[in-house]
Amino acid sequence: MSSLSGLTVLAGPTAVGKGTVSTYIRDNYPQVWLSVSATTRSPRPGEEEGVHYFFKSTEDFDRLVGEGEFLEWAVVHGVNRYGTLRSTVEAALAQGKHVLLEIDLQGARQVKEAVPDARFVFLAPPSWDEMVRRLVGRGTETPEEQQRRLETAKLELAAEPEFDHTVVNDDVRRAADELVQLMGLTPNPR
Ligand code: 5GP
Repeated sequence: MSSLSGLTVLAGPTAVGKGTVSTYIRDNYPQVWLSVSATTRSPRPGEEEGVHYFFKSTEDFDRLVGEGEFLEWAVVHGVNRYGTLRSTVEAALAQGKHVLLEIDLQGARQVKEAVPDARFVFLAPPSWDEMVRRLVGRGTETPEEQQRRLETAKLELAAEPEFDHTVVNDDVRRAADELVQLMGLTPNPR
């Protein structure tokens, strides 16, 4: 699996801001190719096929799983399936791109099995209190749901030692710069 060894995986707890950090990198670091995943969820307003995701029916997703096309895939938040297509990652690496996968913890563990020498980066919240604030802050969930999310967050935070590096998301731009530095790139001047 050495053809995939140049990739970097970014994972971390729900609501830590992985999406924001990786979008910042996509917009500011053209040398980095942010992997476009396949998903069975429906597009949100403004999301484009092939840019944000490859939107698949459950039948198509099943077929791709059966054909062994996924480097990893997982059911995220208990509903939809998300996966990284091996062919897209291989093509980007072959073009000399630095490849970044922004995926959930289950997916990161599968990549670790398949590509042990990839770079694994954990995005952490600045503190537990901040994490609680971000998770329950909206006040739209019932106390039971909030409790369930916090339990999940605790389990997710416990995965940190499985990773090579931790980046604290105290500030999106700073965290993104630290991540690209770990990828061997020079951060943009401020
Ligand atoms: P959203 O539906 O908000 O775009 O993404 C939900 C979650 O799916 C995020 O936590 C993201 O990390 C995860 N995710 C996105 N693409 C993939 C993928 O290809 N594989 C895995 N395992 N998780 C993914």
